[in-house]
Amino acid sequence: MNAQSSAPSHGGFPALFEPLALGATTLRNRVVMGSMHTGLEDRAWDTHKLAAYFAERARGGVGLIVTGGYAPNRTGWLLPFGAKLTNRNEAYRHRTITAAVHEAGGKIAIQILHAGRYSYMPGSVSASSIKAPINPFRPRALSSKGVENTIDDYVRCASLAEFAGYDGCEIMGGEGYFINQFLAPRTNRRTDKWGGTPENRRRLAVEVVRRIRAKVGREFLLMFRLSMAELVEQGQTFDEIIALAQELEAAGADILNTDIGWHEARVPTIVTSVPRAAFLEFTAKITEQVSIPVCASNRINMPETAEEILTRGAAQLISMARPFLTDPEWVNKAQQRRDDEINTCIACNQACLDHVFQRKTVSCLLNPRAGHETELILAPTRRTKRVAVVGAGPAGLSAAIALAERGHRVELFEADDKIGGQFDIARRIPGKEEFNESIRYFARKLETTRVTVHLNRRVSAQELLDERFDDVVLATGVRPRIPNIPGIDHPMVLSYAELVRDGRPVGKRVAVIGAGGIGYDVSEFLTVEGHPTLKIDEWKQEWGVVADDHSLRGQLIAPEPSPAARDVVLLQRKTTPFGKGLGKTTGWVHRAAVKAKGVEHVGGVNYERIDDDGLHISFGEKRQRPRLIAVDNVIICAGQESVRELEEPLRAAGLTPHLIGGADVAAELDAKRAIDQGTRLAARL
Ligand code: FAD
Ligand code: NAP
Ligand code: SF4
Repeated sequence: MNAQSSAPSHGGFPALFEPLALGATTLRNRVVMGSMHTGLEDRAWDTHKLAAYFAERARGGVGLIVTGGYAPNRTGWLLPFGAKLTNRNEAYRHRTITAAVHEAGGKIAIQILHAGRYSYMPGSVSASSIKAPINPFRPRALSSKGVENTIDDYVRCASLAEFAGYDGCEIMGGEGYFINQFLAPRTNRRTDKWGGTPENRRRLAVEVVRRIRAKVGREFLLMFRLSMAELVEQGQTFDEIIALAQELEAAGADILNTDIGWHEARVPTIVTSVPRAAFLEFTAKITEQVSIPVCASNRINMPETAEEILTRGAAQLISMARPFLTDPEWVNKAQQRRDDEINTCIACNQACLDHVFQRKTVSCLLNPRAGHETELILAPTRRTKRVAVVGAGPAGLSAAIALAERGHRVELFEADDKIGGQFDIARRIPGKEEFNESIRYFARKLETTRVTVHLNRRVSAQELLDERFDDVVLATGVRPRIPNIPGIDHPMVLSYAELVRDGRPVGKRVAVIGAGGIGYDVSEFLTVEGHPTLKIDEWKQEWGVVADDHSLRGQLIAPEPSPAARDVVLLQRKTTPFGKGLGKTTGWVHRAAVKAKGVEHVGGVNYERIDDDGLHISFGEKRQRPRLIAVDNVIICAGQESVRELEEPLRAAGLTPHLIGGADVAAELDAKRAIDQGTRLAARL
């Protein structure tokens, strides 16, 4: 599979748009919007926001939407007072959601999720009393009677969902949640009929499906989501997973949805460095063994990948979740062969999964309207203005496009010969190839919104004043900070931009000054020779994942990372642990990746000087333990400073410019803030 192609296809996607008949129900196409917890589910007063969010995706053409997880009882809560569906009052509220989706021409299923030992509160339950490594709360083992009661709760929840107008439900049986905790010997040490043999461990999953099927109408879709590979020790074997799939079919499931890995697994499954459709081999093997439709998932974000999966017969449905945060119009654009206009999810997790852990409403780095559909509205303007936007990085691009969408006449000035700003550097980092899609999207969007783009144009304040624009937006971004270290002008010293963007050659031994996001990216860039896009097999070898041994528990073997291309030393002045500021759900992957390449981490340093011998450092306030790091090159990743030379002359001439992104504040800048600021400014002007 040509997994990372960014070239838009114009051949159409017939398999993707073939309706799927499922007994009494027909789906209009093969696209499922997978379950995502947005945070809006947890607050009754946000139901109308949730309805607007789903309706926008239904209008965008999605065949079947699956909601975020709702607990069938209080012990199944993910968080205290989280989303649950346990009574008629709650069910009535859901009618706002189902009505909005149906009115928009869509179908929607509720996900029933019991968190089990992943419940982040005391009093949680599981198959056995074994604490999860990612949760401080130890669960209690559910009694046999408790298991029966819990099954009743699942049935009640499904029945209430039917009453609320849902077209079906999805039982979450993967990712290490409650049902999965019964399925795997890792967490199920029971000796009653719910544990012990593989058949007994599967009994809970099968009974939940069988009893829901007996309760709800035939047209009510019953999906089950299972882990195809658990990626944890003492997980199920693949043979056991196939047996589970077959038993679920016999019990009355209509669709099998798939996922990969437990939340506590130490193999990345959804971050941007995971190749597209990396786990398809597992899906295809399950599809061969059952006759109900199977839904492929994980790192599928563009129509050509989805079409290829369906055409190969590896699955009958495609589930994507985050891609619908980034672009609610994904399906319509694919159907109308406007796939080059798709705003592609880059799998960064920065505004979606990271927000879940920060208890913020889920959104999207590339589409700040996601989750805020009722508040962030790009309404057509009543008075068309001429607006100049200076800088075509993420901030300027998003502002220019949103302003033009609203009906303003926009001119975008960029000093470089191409758009992208720092994204043009980020896209060259191994594992960040998806950033190319964002640049493709922005470029196409500038065309469709008719923004006038001036490349190679370092615009001056006088030029902006002469043109008498109604508004001027300064999105001139940042430049690398050059720290004041003796010898910083030595030819061995390069900025990250000179290394990554300009391709300046470096030797075999390199020191990296600064261990923020860019320091880690640069370390990965330096240790991977030739910066290739990893093929799926190579990626599996790097992380120790196998698909062809059906009796291996968890589908894990020892990882075999390829050797590092260089010896790299990563340095920081602080004494706090390395990589603390990296993304909550992605930082561990970056840390593991550079560790696997043998990068040496040296913290608490003073940079004394740089000379022909290399980088001289010392430690502590007393500048003790002097050490020479003998290297061929030193790369500076010491943060950035704002570029805002245009601001003062404009102000002096009586024009108040709008500053966004790095031009506004360089500290703690990321593309999420840059794009959010650009879009919100455009909504106001
Ligand atoms: P910039 O991207 O700096 O763009 C400013 C633009 O203005 C430039 O194109 C510049 O040429 C132009 N310009 C400046 N002056 C003028 C002028 N006078 N006239 C015309 N044009 C001018 N962020 C994340 O959120 N997630 C990541 O994973 C991530 N990874 C990164 C990896 C690397 C290697 C790098 C370098 C950055 C990464 N970032 C990441 C940071 C992110 O790219 C920046 O935060 C973002 O690009 C800032 O956007 P901006 O538009 O404010 O500024
Ligand atoms: P950063 O995260 O602020 O890191 C800057 C690093 O430089 C720090 O390690 C800091 O550590 C060091 N530093 C600061 N001033 C210094 C000085 N005067 N001399 C020597 N060292 C100095 O910034 P960044 O790495 O440049 O990244 C910029 C932004 O891009 C970040 O905010 C990040 O969110 C975003 N980004 C994100 C990702 C991602 O994967 N999510 C990847 C890349 C970039 P000490 O002060 O301890 O030395
Ligand atoms: Fe995708 Fe990143 Fe947006 Fe999340 S924040 S939906 S991962 S692009």
